[in-house]
Amino acid sequence: MRYGIIADIHGNLEAFEAVLAKLKGKADQILCAGDMVGYGPNPNECVEIIRGENIPSVAGNHDKALVNEFPLGLFNEAAAEAIRWTQKVITQENLELIKNLPLKLEYPGFDIVHGSLLEPLSEYLTSMAVAVPTFNLMNKPRLFVGHTHKPLRLKYQDKEIINPGSVGQPRDGDPAAAYLLYDDEKQEVQLFRVEYDIEAVQKKMKGAGLPQRLISRLVAGR
Ligand code: ZN
Repeated sequence: MRYGIIADIHGNLEAFEAVLAKLKGKADQILCAGDMVGYGPNPNECVEIIRGENIPSVAGNHDKALVNEFPLGLFNEAAAEAIRWTQKVITQENLELIKNLPLKLEYPGFDIVHGSLLEPLSEYLTSMAVAVPTFNLMNKPRLFVGHTHKPLRLKYQDKEIINPGSVGQPRDGDPAAAYLLYDDEKQEVQLFRVEYDIEAVQKKMKGAGLPQRLISRLVAGR
């Protein structure tokens, strides 16, 4: 089985479509590590693709904040403002899908969570030092996570934690959308980037009145 693993789409339709075009014919199944909304101008369109393409997903902190199950007080002001905007535009049907997202997806040989196994919604696995408790909780060889918006691959004993990076708001200095392919027969993980029309997204964000800080950071990739 060839899996396309994505995370942190954040309502960025152009980035999501660019990634889907790359995964077409290469992935048998696409899976999402959470945060389909927040920040970006097209939350409804992104959730509708998740539904239409049958992409199983875990809940991220922004998804939970949208349905009032994660405190907005833990977000910076720009992020909170984007969630409040998303709450105004999201459809009831899409809200239902988000309400029903699980915290963990389990597959043969790997699991998926947004943050970590200790704190699925809030912990950032940024380095080996913070990842050790999650490695100790792993009972499968691989765990895919999102949340940090930075691609990362950590190995510990015979286990591996992998973050594909973010589709809709990369923060590693490269503004291109990130994703990965995992072939469980070959036991092969490959990380990829694809450029997309950032200007088009920025125009829509401006039109929606989303915070300038969120608009600017897409180009910087930070
Ligand atoms: Zn995120």
